[in-house]
Amino acid sequence: MKDTAEQTWSTRTLLAWIEGHLAERSIEEPGLVARWLMSRAIGTDPIHLYTDLDRPASAQERATLRELVKRASANEPVQYLLGKGGFLGRQFEVGPGVLIPRTATEGIVQHVLTWHRGLDRDVRPDPLWIADIGTGSGCIGITLALQLPTARVVAVDVSVDAVAFAMRNASTHEVEERVEIVEGNLCEPLKGRGREGCFDVIVSNPPYIDDTRYEQLQPNVKSFEPALALRGGSDGLDIVRTLFGTAPKFLSPGGVLVVETDDINATEACHIAESTGTLVECRVLKDEFGDKRFVRAERSSA
Ligand code: GLN
Repeated sequence: MKDTAEQTWSTRTLLAWIEGHLAERSIEEPGLVARWLMSRAIGTDPIHLYTDLDRPASAQERATLRELVKRASANEPVQYLLGKGGFLGRQFEVGPGVLIPRTATEGIVQHVLTWHRGLDRDVRPDPLWIADIGTGSGCIGITLALQLPTARVVAVDVSVDAVAFAMRNASTHEVEERVEIVEGNLCEPLKGRGREGCFDVIVSNPPYIDDTRYEQLQPNVKSFEPALALRGGSDGLDIVRTLFGTAPKFLSPGGVLVVETDDINATEACHIAESTGTLVECRVLKDEFGDKRFVRAERSSA
C-alpha cells in the first residue's frame, strides 16, 4: 500500500489490495480477513463496509491497516488482530497471552446446562457454585454465569495476563459481581475460601496437548498462543492428572466435573478419573465435530 499523491485509497481499493497481499502469502480466507481488518481499522462492522465502498481512508486508518496486515501476513491469529473471539455467540476480549476460545470448548457449557436442567427442581442448588479452572479469557465461566443467572463462579488462572483478560470480560458482560477471578495454580486458590466440598460444578479446559502434537501445531497457534495454555507434557495428561487428583475434594456430593481433553487421550483421562476412587459416572463425551473431547464425572454421594 504505497501512499502517493495521485491515489486516494478507498475501502474498495484497500480491500482489494489487502486480499491480494494476504493471498500471495498463503493466508487462509484472505477476502474474509481483509474485511475484518478493514472494519477494525475504520471502526465499523464488516457488513457496513459495503454501504460506502468509495469512502476515502484517513492517513491514521491506513497506518493502522498497514500494521494489521503486517501482523496477519506473519500468521498472527485474526482474533488477536481484532482483539476479540467468539464463544457461544458472545464476544470475548483476547490478545497475546491468552488462549483464543475454541468452538469445541462450547460443549463444556452445553453439557453443564443439560446436567443442570436434568436436576430435579427441588434439589437444584441455589446459588449454584461453579469453579472454572484455567479460565483463560473467562469464556466458560462467564458464559455459565450468563446462562445461569443465580450461579456464583470462581474462575482461576495461573497467568497474570489471562486473569486481566478474564476480569475485563467479566466486567464487559456485567457479571463481575458473580464471577470472582483469582490468580493461582489449578485448584489451589479454592483452598481456604470455605468452599471445600461445596462446588456443584467444576469445569476446565486445561492445557492437554502432548509434546509430539505440540511440535506439529499450525504456525498461527504454536507461534502466537501461550504454550502455558496448551502444553500438557509428554503424554498431554500432566495437568489433567493433577486436576483429577485435586478437584474432587472441592465438589459437593453429586457435583459434576467436566474437563476438556485431546481426542487421543480422552479414554486414558477417563481412566485417571475413575482411578481416583472419589469420582463416579465417569464418561467420555464427544464434541460437535464427533471427536472424543470431554471427560465428565460426578463426586460420589457417599
Ligand atoms: N478456559 C479457557 C478456554 O477454554 C482457557 C483454557 C486454557 O488456557 N487452557 O478458552
